[in-house]
Amino acid sequence: MDGDIQKLIVCALETGFSRACELDAKSLVFMPEVRDMCKDNRCGKYGKSWMCPPHCGTLEESVKIAKRFSSGVLVQTTGKMDDDFDYENMLDTGKRHKEMFEAFVSKARTAFSDILPMGAGACQMCETCSCPDSPCRHPDKAIPSMEAYGLMVNDVCEKSGIAYLHEKLTITYTSCVLL
Ligand code: SF4
Repeated sequence: MDGDIQKLIVCALETGFSRACELDAKSLVFMPEVRDMCKDNRCGKYGKSWMCPPHCGTLEESVKIAKRFSSGVLVQTTGKMDDDFDYENMLDTGKRHKEMFEAFVSKARTAFSDILPMGAGACQMCETCSCPDSPCRHPDKAIPSMEAYGLMVNDVCEKSGIAYLHEKLTITYTSCVLL
């Protein structure tokens, strides 16, 4: 394994993620079907984030950016749930994952001049995104979602040799950084 990837994995685990592993960026499949799912707007962010479709650019433009990277690191946060409807722990795990990912990306940006972070869901750097009324407040810190790049998260996990879902009554959030 490349030394830079090893460094990032150690950094991710020190940040507190449940798991971190190498991601082969060359094996990524960018699917228009995932972009189509964004249009269904089940997350409510379609057209409301500078980092999500349609404002993040076309899939072709996103693929061109992602193809500059050949490796990366996948990170996961897993939290326990009391039952299948334990929204409190789901939200809490999602919040922990987002905070750790922002901290991890900040460290990775300090260590490496050129990285591409992709988060779990829309950019949450600001309490409310300025989209579409005024320009992005932090273009240097904003984090696009894996879905914005047309990535099927379970497929990326599988290709990286890591499970997408874990034990029963747990919830897992996945993000990545390309290098
Ligand atoms: S940094 Fe703020 S304004 Fe920019 S995409 Fe993220 S949430 Fe929106």
